[in-house]
Amino acid sequence: MVAETDVLVVGGGPAGLGAALGAADAGARVVLAERHGFLGGNATAALVMPLMSYYTRRGLPEAETAAQLMPMDHGPGEPVVEGALARLIDRVRRMGGAIGPSARTGYTVPFDPEVLKCAAIDLLEEAGVQLLLHSFASGVLEPLSALSMRGFGGGTGARGVIFETKSGPIVVGARTLVDCTGDGDIAGFAGASFEMGREEDGLTQPMTLMFRMSQFDQPLFERYVDENSDQWKGVFGLWDLIREARQAGELTLPREDILLFGGVRPGEVSVNSTRVSALAGTDVFDLTRAEVLSRRQLRQIVAFLRERVPGFEHSYVVQSGSCVGVRETRRIVGEYRLEAEDVIQARKFEDVIARCAYPIDIHDPSGTGTRLERLPEGQWYDIPLRCLLPQGIEGVVVAGRCISGSHEAHSSYRVMPVSMATGQAAGVCAALASAAGVFPRQVLASHVQEELLRQGASLGDASAPKDVCSSDCGCRLCRVA
Ligand SMILES: Cc1cc2nc3c(=O)[nH]c(=O)nc-3n(C[C@H](O)[C@H](O)[C@H](O)COP(=O)(O)OP(=O)(O)OC[C@H]3O[C@@H](n4cnc5c(N)ncnc54)[C@H](O)[C@@H]3O)c2cc1C
Repeated sequence: MVAETDVLVVGGGPAGLGAALGAADAGARVVLAERHGFLGGNATAALVMPLMSYYTRRGLPEAETAAQLMPMDHGPGEPVVEGALARLIDRVRRMGGAIGPSARTGYTVPFDPEVLKCAAIDLLEEAGVQLLLHSFASGVLEPLSALSMRGFGGGTGARGVIFETKSGPIVVGARTLVDCTGDGDIAGFAGASFEMGREEDGLTQPMTLMFRMSQFDQPLFERYVDENSDQWKGVFGLWDLIREARQAGELTLPREDILLFGGVRPGEVSVNSTRVSALAGTDVFDLTRAEVLSRRQLRQIVAFLRERVPGFEHSYVVQSGSCVGVRETRRIVGEYRLEAEDVIQARKFEDVIARCAYPIDIHDPSGTGTRLERLPEGQWYDIPLRCLLPQGIEGVVVAGRCISGSHEAHSSYRVMPVSMATGQAAGVCAALASAAGVFPRQVLASHVQEELLRQGASLGDASAPKDVCSSDCGCRLCRVA
């Protein structure tokens, strides 16, 4: 074993950043391990942007022009995520790498992934988090006797993670593990049950290779869109031009439209239009196929934009994702499974640890089309702590897109701001468990809430902690009391 720590966070995406900051702020020694040489997960490795809206909607703001290039389906309601997310956005903005949420951005946050990479490292180092980059988790060890917990039996456990590295395999031991791999790798290795894809056929949302184009003439594009307003809706469209290109044999895309997001600087645009379906993001052969197919689609899309779409004549690909973006893989079966009705009916839970106002948003797993189902105006739903606690294993908390929920609910809570929020909660829960020498399941939700509120997280009125610690569980708050 090369290192021992209180909390080991595996995965440095939005959830991992939230988890590491949450655990460190709660007083734990934290190691964050990541397979890439940089942080950010999908936000940087797959160039996924912008940070989707974390505001409730109040009416739909009018786009200034038809081609606003920002999703305009959120109004100026209230932010339902703060805490670690607010810290990250503030830092990226101060470094000139993000535009704050406003009516102009549809309450999303466009950001520069290169700035986010730097900001994330700075924030974590300042918080005292030890980084372990270039480290791919390939397995877990059963509970190590030196780190055994008091007072809890049953279930299988995992206290050490094996990483494949340039220095050979290494093991990091931890009192509590936080699985922020997006794919639920750690909980899966430890034997947790999981679901994948939609119920009828197991198909997941498609993968997408995203890319950024530079020297895009936005005023020219906007003029075209204003003159052809039936052909563009906020961030997507060009149906007629696509049809013509298909008939000419130039395009063979599964997607029926082009989806574009404006960047931080004029002249830059982010293209979310490749689509690779019916392949699994947990299968190396499928992932290889997805990289090959999506890069072929990228070439077609770029040629189409340059040749047929006004404003793109002189544009070029300045950067593509270093890997294909994976929307959906394992959803770990937890103590509570968040359902579509919880989302649409804006349900609230006693053990809320994060909130979400983003709609159900499913890119069709088998073909064209996208299903969008919004929450009622001014509303959000709560995510309970139980969604982060896998059934049947101990010592592991999950966060981000692999938490417990249905295919439909996942399509809502998967967005990056909410992943950061569940990450922060998982980190806090792991830190409290480690400090008390108990399993995460034994930590009272009210204690997680109290620490999250202290850290500036936003849990809504319903979430004010109601309990004081009466269980003498040995957690940090018991000791304070
Ligand atoms: C094409 C696409 C478009 C999207 N559009 C948006 C959007 O516009 N706005 C938005 O907010 N959300 C969007 N999303 C959703 C969002 O990007 C993800 O759901 C979110 O990033 C999930 O965060 P996460 O931290 O759980 O996982 P990830 O972002 O996937 O991060 C997981 C991290 O763990 C690391 N990792 C994985 N396995 C291992 C391992 N075994 N060992 C070590 N490290 C490992 C990865 O390298 C990565 O850094 C989109 C997703 C995709 C794919």
